[in-house]
Amino acid sequence: MAPITMTELVKIYPGGVRALDAIDLTVEDGEFFALLGPSGCGKTTLLRTVAGLEASSGGSIRIGDRDVTALPPGRRDVAMVFQDYALFPHMTVTDNIAYPLRIKKVPSAERAQKAAGTAAELGLSDYLGRRPGQLSGGQQQRVALARAMACHPQVFLFDEPLSNLDARMRLEARTFLKRLQRELGVTTVFVTHDQAEALALADRIAVMEGGRIRQLGTPKEVFHRPANTFVASFIGSTPMNLLDAAVSSSGEHLAIGNDVLPVPAAYARALTDGEKLVLGVRPEYLSYSAEPVKQALSGEVTVVENLGSAQLVTLSGEAGFVQVVVDEDTVLVTGDRGYAVPRQDRMLLYRDGDLIGTGTPAGAAA
Ligand code: ATP
Repeated sequence: MAPITMTELVKIYPGGVRALDAIDLTVEDGEFFALLGPSGCGKTTLLRTVAGLEASSGGSIRIGDRDVTALPPGRRDVAMVFQDYALFPHMTVTDNIAYPLRIKKVPSAERAQKAAGTAAELGLSDYLGRRPGQLSGGQQQRVALARAMACHPQVFLFDEPLSNLDARMRLEARTFLKRLQRELGVTTVFVTHDQAEALALADRIAVMEGGRIRQLGTPKEVFHRPANTFVASFIGSTPMNLLDAAVSSSGEHLAIGNDVLPVPAAYARALTDGEKLVLGVRPEYLSYSAEPVKQALSGEVTVVENLGSAQLVTLSGEAGFVQVVVDEDTVLVTGDRGYAVPRQDRMLLYRDGDLIGTGTPAGAAA
């Protein structure tokens, strides 16, 4: 097990695409680390560059105390699990798991023993003689994990390993993967574009955009205190409300469309009258009222979505759309007026796209 340290890591593809733009990042020893971001932000490139499947264009990569920047993949002591598992279709489960050991010239009896042992740990003992085509998606994923585990690497690199599974299997596989990673304690970098998966699994998350890291933090930090409006709009299964606001009343109020809200205590004296900001507040942290409320966001109920145990209401007001999570029992009628009061300690203010610092991160106390 070992930390991974990337310093000023750059990857420029032929044609000039700068897929990694001077990445500085340390993944701690034994950490479960997620790389998250929209399509094309450079997640897979970062993973493949650490694996040695792509040559870097600048900077360095260290695994433990070894500089692996110029080493071929086979000498980096990493194991990668791909989105499509990349199993050999003509080989049995045993032979697939044992394949990396064969490459390392481990004697055949020892290979078979190690493959059987790892397969047993992952609940695959009944399938050793089958080929990948005779397995379910979840079982194939376990074979791919077993193959990665069999040679006891210092680092696991997972490239969207859950994305080929159906929704239910995905949840099961996610819990399984987290337990396995905890038990093995192997430093793991996990690529996903699914923010719920990253929040659920990771010790820390790097949110990427355009080859750069836009925020690095624990799931609670990136959820509760997105550092910029890009991360704020990307994280959360219901996106954060981001509303244009103007500071008024000597820094005590925010004017949002026709509505006025008090400036949260955490921002007292940090704002200048007249300045234009963006208010961020998650739909979960607004309380809904059908009766008029002073100092609330207001609008017409235009859409009501059923979330199962709650409802997501869209209010259309002067300042745009505001979404609110409302309990399942509240009767909501489209066309009515609704009022939404933000929880003060969950209101975030962004200046020029960046979160205005307010001392103790709310996420730390969350
Ligand atoms: P996705 O979630 O869609 O897999 P990603 O975040 O993993 O996206 P990458 O695959 O790392 O993104 O791609 C980063 C950028 O590099 C993109 O603009 C992509 O088009 C470009 N790119 C990736 N591979 C190559 C390549 N072999 N040659 C040229 N450009 C490439």
